[in-house]
Amino acid sequence: MMDILWILWTLPSVLAIEEMLMDSTTATAELGWTVYPVSSTGDSSISWEEVSGYDENMNTIRTYQVCNVFHANQNNWVRTKYIRRRGAQRIHVEMKFSVRDCSSIPGVPGSCKETFNLYYYESDYDTATKVHPPWMENPWIKVDTIAADESFSQVDLGGRVMKINTEVRSFGPVSRNGFYLAFQDYGGCMSLIAVRVFYRKCPRTIRNGAAFQETHSGAESTSLVSARGECIPNAEEVDVPIKLYCNGDGEWMVPIGRCMCKAGHEAVENGTVCRACPSGFFKTAQGDEKCLQCPINSRTTNNGATNCVCRNGYYRTDSDPLEMPCTTVSSAPQNVISSVNETSLMLEWNPPREAGGRDDVVYNIICKSCGGGRGGCTRCGDNVQFVPRQLGLTDTRVFISDLLAHTQYTFEVQAVNGVSDQSPYSPQYASVNITTNQAAPSTVSIMHQVSRTIDSITLSWSQPDQPNGVILDYELQYYEKDQTEHNSSIVKSQTNTAVIRGLKPGGIYVFQVRARTVAGFGRYSGKMYFQTMTEEEYNTSIQEKLPLIIGSAAAGLVFLIAVVVIIIVCNRRGFERADSEYTDKLQHYTSGHMSPGMKIYIDPFTYEDPNEAVREFAKEIDISCVKIEQVIGAGEFGEVCSGNLKLPGKREMFVAIKTLKSGYTEKQRRDFLSEASIMGQFDHPNVIHLEGVVTKSSPVMIITEFMENGSLDSFLRQNDGQFTVIQLVGMLRGIGSGMKYLADMNYVHRDLAARNILVNSNLVCKVSDFGLSRFLEDDTSDPTYTSALGGKIPIRWTAPEAIQYRKFTSASDVWSYGIVMWEVMSYGERPYWDMTNQDVINAIEQDYRLPPPMDCPSALHQLMLDCWQKDRNNRPKFSQIVNNLDKMIRNPNSLKAMTPLSSGVHLPLLDRSVPDFSSFNTVDDWLDAIKMGQYKDNFANGNFTSFDLVSQMTMEDILRVGVTLAGHQKKILNSVQMMRAQMNQIQSVEV
Ligand code: AMP
Repeated sequence: MMDILWILWTLPSVLAIEEMLMDSTTATAELGWTVYPVSSTGDSSISWEEVSGYDENMNTIRTYQVCNVFHANQNNWVRTKYIRRRGAQRIHVEMKFSVRDCSSIPGVPGSCKETFNLYYYESDYDTATKVHPPWMENPWIKVDTIAADESFSQVDLGGRVMKINTEVRSFGPVSRNGFYLAFQDYGGCMSLIAVRVFYRKCPRTIRNGAAFQETHSGAESTSLVSARGECIPNAEEVDVPIKLYCNGDGEWMVPIGRCMCKAGHEAVENGTVCRACPSGFFKTAQGDEKCLQCPINSRTTNNGATNCVCRNGYYRTDSDPLEMPCTTVSSAPQNVISSVNETSLMLEWNPPREAGGRDDVVYNIICKSCGGGRGGCTRCGDNVQFVPRQLGLTDTRVFISDLLAHTQYTFEVQAVNGVSDQSPYSPQYASVNITTNQAAPSTVSIMHQVSRTIDSITLSWSQPDQPNGVILDYELQYYEKDQTEHNSSIVKSQTNTAVIRGLKPGGIYVFQVRARTVAGFGRYSGKMYFQTMTEEEYNTSIQEKLPLIIGSAAAGLVFLIAVVVIIIVCNRRGFERADSEYTDKLQHYTSGHMSPGMKIYIDPFTYEDPNEAVREFAKEIDISCVKIEQVIGAGEFGEVCSGNLKLPGKREMFVAIKTLKSGYTEKQRRDFLSEASIMGQFDHPNVIHLEGVVTKSSPVMIITEFMENGSLDSFLRQNDGQFTVIQLVGMLRGIGSGMKYLADMNYVHRDLAARNILVNSNLVCKVSDFGLSRFLEDDTSDPTYTSALGGKIPIRWTAPEAIQYRKFTSASDVWSYGIVMWEVMSYGERPYWDMTNQDVINAIEQDYRLPPPMDCPSALHQLMLDCWQKDRNNRPKFSQIVNNLDKMIRNPNSLKAMTPLSSGVHLPLLDRSVPDFSSFNTVDDWLDAIKMGQYKDNFANGNFTSFDLVSQMTMEDILRVGVTLAGHQKKILNSVQMMRAQMNQIQSVEV
């Protein structure tokens, strides 16, 4: 309705408006204008005379006539009535008149005229009289002399034959309230038929989107009157000011500035109306454009839409033009094909069937490793490599490498387009499951010198990022810098350190190391150069050491002599740590049989001030380098958190942070930090690594490497049955290797259990939990630890001699290791199930031992039984355990034989009736003694002819020589184990 009214009001008028001030033709009675002169006799014919007549349409009109051609000196005036100006500045006068042609009047004198004059006189009031204003130019102002275009020859006052002239004159400016007009005849014969007086206005108009009000034209015919325009409804200014000029003829001209219809509106009706876009149409911005139809898959919700909203399930990105159809998500990629090559993989696929109406589909690859993480599949770590990249692939193929060997993976290939993030059903993906093959380990990247002497260098290196299995050993190749690889020597090491002896003093050597798994050798690392000590350096270092040693041997001269002796002995044997920080403490611990260069563990409680041990073994970290992220567990002394550690000049790393809760006693602080003092002495890939401690601010913290999969017992329980035997043995091998390292350092753990092993994302197991407090304090509420004389003991994991008389040794750690093996092979089952501690103690005392867990290869159970030998001297050493496990890994067939499940809970210990091998001279005699004489030839053919060789036999060896009956296999294996134990007993040195 509003719009319609508006349209009516703004109907454009191009014509100027003529506003009438006086029109003689509309007079219905006498015009009654004033004439001059007036005859004294009342004879009206001497001047202008009002006469009725007809116009060309035969309408009656009032006219003035005069025709005094025969009299000279005529001066006849007729004056209109007062005409109000009504705001006009310029007045237009249209005159219709006829004039008699002088030449057509017979005998007319020469004074006959065919023109008349037009005057005006301004006045604020109607004050004219017969004599005022005087009948003369000045005060009257002459407008013009008016001549006829046509005159007529025959006077016909009846109006029949009339030639009518029309002339228009204008004058201005006028400023008084009104004026009079006067017509002066000076001797003609004429008739003034009609006089119309008007002024001009520019009409209301709409130009350039703006409305302009009616405007009076200016005072001069040339003047331009400016008018301001206002934007029409729903239009907005584009250029300002918005102006039009009204000229003297009432015409608009010179438009300036403009308005345009705003967004959601279009110009109609010749640009005079901005109309809302109808339903289904939209216009995004101000302008002259028309409304557009909504693009496909979009609609409007009301008139005047500035855009169209997408239908359900269709979307736009921020950068999509509003004119573009709404689009939807892409469907999944098609036909994903994978080709696995060792630990690499090529994935290829076809584009999705439906790209969602877009051309920006890219692909993301999601990698999940299955069976290796907690609870099914977990996202792969950062180490997996994608070429050209993992996210935003434009091609339909990707090369993936650095996967773990023998691992199941699921790869999801997501198709993502510009609107995927807006849909709850996106991205769509196709997935493939693959299993990687075995592969050689990746390259060792970091190698550094631990120490050096005049003729040896001790090196250590990091484990390869991708071990791709259990590392069996490392091979170190070295040669003198001036030589070539052809002259190189090789040293093998089962740990990630090695001592290279027999080098030249001051010689520079090139070193390269590579790791070996069952899949073979990895590639050699880059070349590293290390130099032995020169004679000079060596002598200086000895001189520097002496005062130190003398100072620390405050106990007396005897010690001094002992230490000097040790130093000399060590030097002779090529003692590695010429710069060892432990030199002054060695007298407490060396018992004479330490291996050269071996670091020995130092009990922090032997320090008078245990804080000194912390300072010595743990690096102080500034709290500003630590960022705690979340709580991941509860420790003995406070929360355990995960977080980030950013040390200056090093890459940020993910760490575990143990905190000491507030309100601790000095003793608690000491006990808490003792773990760091212990851990800080270790450096082994299977022992949890200490990054440092925060002791200078609160809370006190111990920061260690982060182990993504947490503690082994719960990790196994969460992944029950999901690993291959090789993987489980690989974990055990790692734990064994860590324990060997600790045992070599003379460290007795006392609490080896799956709960104290941590697992990282590569399934590497590390020995942890070096806290001493739980053994020392009697107030711990953990039921795993039972009070015993002099401390608390985890009964189920502890060797009988340690329970009975606190004989904790590496051999008692071996017993615990056997229990850990059982925990691992049973995926976290509780040892001895729900038996009471006392029942466990009694059963062990009566030679009952845990049976093999389900699917446990007999070779492994046999190793467990070895660890659970009553006599600790008969238990294998950790080095033997690691060798044994390596053999199994190298010969996976040896893990195929399973011990039949025993019917009961208990399994008797090994057959104690096996005779001692040392009482026999030959293997054949021994076979007879164990009632297996029928296999003498088999043993001889298999070259198992000495007790040394027989004692190393595995189940696989027994199978290979041709023992096929399970009972006989077991009998022989038991006897071999026995032989090994008896040998150990002979060789072992009491610790
Ligand atoms: P603890 O006081 O050492 O027994 O630690 C308590 C719990 O915190 C453990 O059972 C783990 O779940 C967790 N935890 C401790 N250290 C680490 C670590 N280095 N990485 C990941 N989790 C850890």
